[in-house]
Amino acid sequence: MALPDSLTVGDLDVTVEVSDRRRSVRLTVERDASVTAVVPPQVDRDALVKIIESRRRWLYGKIAERRSLGEPRPEREYVSGEGFPYLGRSYRLLLVDEGPVRLVRGRLELARTDLEDAPRQLVRWYRKVGEPWLRRRIRPWAERVGVTLSGLRVMPLGHRWGSCSVDGRVNIHWATMQLPPDLIDYVLLHELAHIRHRDHGPAFWKVVALAMPGYEVRRERLKRAGLDLWLPDGAV
Ligand SMILES: [Zn+2]
Repeated sequence: MALPDSLTVGDLDVTVEVSDRRRSVRLTVERDASVTAVVPPQVDRDALVKIIESRRRWLYGKIAERRSLGEPRPEREYVSGEGFPYLGRSYRLLLVDEGPVRLVRGRLELARTDLEDAPRQLVRWYRKVGEPWLRRRIRPWAERVGVTLSGLRVMPLGHRWGSCSVDGRVNIHWATMQLPPDLIDYVLLHELAHIRHRDHGPAFWKVVALAMPGYEVRRERLKRAGLDLWLPDGAV
């Protein structure tokens, strides 16, 4: 029986992703406390339900941990004075008469005429400023890892910070631009290291550690950073 996109087991809602790169089921509790199962193609629905049930205690523990990291993100109203994170700092929104979204003298300007479309306009801004910034930023890391980067794009990537392809293209979630630069470096390095090693095996982490000694601290900070970010419904 084909696997559904999502599954309810008891009171757990689980998003299901099929990946032919996986050999066993991986359960993850995301930074918003939602649960994802990455499943190899040969696993069927019943088998998956059993696995989820057997790991319930662990899942509940993780969910509680994630929730305790912070209150749920407040809904934005897109009024002047509201804070939006950019490179680890909060910038206040300023409603102006016209123009595309831009950062001027420490205020994030949004046209009143774009208010109805505010989430999309703001996401577009993160992507626009993100691309040149990240392309500059990633260069020295690519050199350090010894890989050739053939392209970088900023886009929505769901719950992932980044992804990469074997031919050296890296995709980065636009929301990454809200993180402090040192955490962005970790995200970039992580994807570059994947160009050399697809999985998260010891060889992969060795590449990361060589390029960024003490990366573990940043990896832990990144796990908590997600809750402070602005992620509008539908755009992620
Ligand atoms: Zn990875």
